[in-house]
Amino acid sequence: MSTLLIKNGTIVTATDLYTGDVFVEGDRISTIGTALTMPADRTIDATGKYVLPGGIDVHTHLDMPFGGSTSADDFESGTIAAAHGGTTTIVDFAIQYKGQTLHHAWNTWMKKAEGKAAIDYGFHMIITELSNQVEQEMDALVGQGVTSFKLFMAYPGVFMLDDASIFRALLRTGENGGTICMHAENGGVIDVLVKKALAEGRTAPKYHALTRPARAEAEATHRAIALAEMAGVPIYIVHLSAAEALEMVTEARDRGLPAYAETCPQYLFLSYDNYEEPGFDGAKYVMSPPLRARETQDRLWRGLAFNDLQAISTDHCPFCMKEQKELGQGDFSKIPNGAPGIETRMSLVYDGGVRAGRLSLNRFVELTSTSPAKIFGLFPRKGTIAPGSDADIVVFDPNRTMRLGVNTLHMKVDYNPYEGREVTGVTDTVISRGKVIVDGGTFTGRAGAGSFLKRSPR
Ligand SMILES: [Zn+2]
Repeated sequence: MSTLLIKNGTIVTATDLYTGDVFVEGDRISTIGTALTMPADRTIDATGKYVLPGGIDVHTHLDMPFGGSTSADDFESGTIAAAHGGTTTIVDFAIQYKGQTLHHAWNTWMKKAEGKAAIDYGFHMIITELSNQVEQEMDALVGQGVTSFKLFMAYPGVFMLDDASIFRALLRTGENGGTICMHAENGGVIDVLVKKALAEGRTAPKYHALTRPARAEAEATHRAIALAEMAGVPIYIVHLSAAEALEMVTEARDRGLPAYAETCPQYLFLSYDNYEEPGFDGAKYVMSPPLRARETQDRLWRGLAFNDLQAISTDHCPFCMKEQKELGQGDFSKIPNGAPGIETRMSLVYDGGVRAGRLSLNRFVELTSTSPAKIFGLFPRKGTIAPGSDADIVVFDPNRTMRLGVNTLHMKVDYNPYEGREVTGVTDTVISRGKVIVDGGTFTGRAGAGSFLKRSPR
């Protein structure tokens, strides 16, 4: 069994902060203490650095078909980029297309990941059609470790489910212990606004944002929570972007409801102003929900600090400008929705959250690792530094500065939404189940070394 000793680091979990040593045997953490002296195959000196649980990104779209294109990172390039950024676990989305079983979708995505993923991975199941048979399949999947299901209130005719189907799926999770994740935007309203804008000749990228009002997100967020309340089950709102939607979550949580929500770095660092960049550059930021008014950022940071938002994920779904985003030149509705972010999450949130005084170090770890692990059935195997937990560890240098850009990052996409931005707080060494997979900026892991994570029900 290989052994690894990490010495003199500042160990940070969601609750603790202390100087100590971590001893790893095989793929697990075996001992934590001070002045540990056991011999190890490798010793890492973490003096002056943070020793964090590996990042957990519960919202990624690798190798995903969308609107005649496929997201630019597959499970190999995407998970290697994730590792460089300090993320050691992802939960990606498998898609049930109409007429298909959930198991067919699951098998399809398992094949995409097999032999390619360099870090551990799980799947949420996107349900686009709900029959009695699909409801039974939901139960089976929960038993097989696919314990969460994503439903859409947007994209009518493609992904959108009606309220009755959503309600039935919610009720079902009350019996099988699964969790419903919701894309909350009012797709009917948005569709009408998109058609109207195009008919009026408004075709530039910024109209993507102008046809997806914050109130459409707030309305759907409110409806999703109300449906979950009537079904008596928890709900998790994905990629919350609008202050108006956050108010709905806050109100529900103040009433004691198990309503959870995540936001993403793009909503914390970018804004509607980016759509006004010259030429077709606004297309870089076409994602759903869209970027919001700059003032929203403070509201979201406060939501994160005070636990109205419980997780920060990326919604990583990269499309190149060339040949992919370009499909929407002259018609914003044809721009593939999504942007890259799997690699930049930890540094951005550390820099803009902890260094800027908006989040404590413990809260940073909680939002990027512990809380997503708890919500999605991975804790305590993942999401903390404790004896018996998987040795997914990031040695993080809080003082090193890096300039973000396509030339310094590893995602397979021809632009970066944060191009030129400097961040302080960078990943040094990344360990996945006891193996060093990023060593001083070099990937030393192996494509295919990641395993499928069978997650626990609620
Ligand atoms: Zn998404």
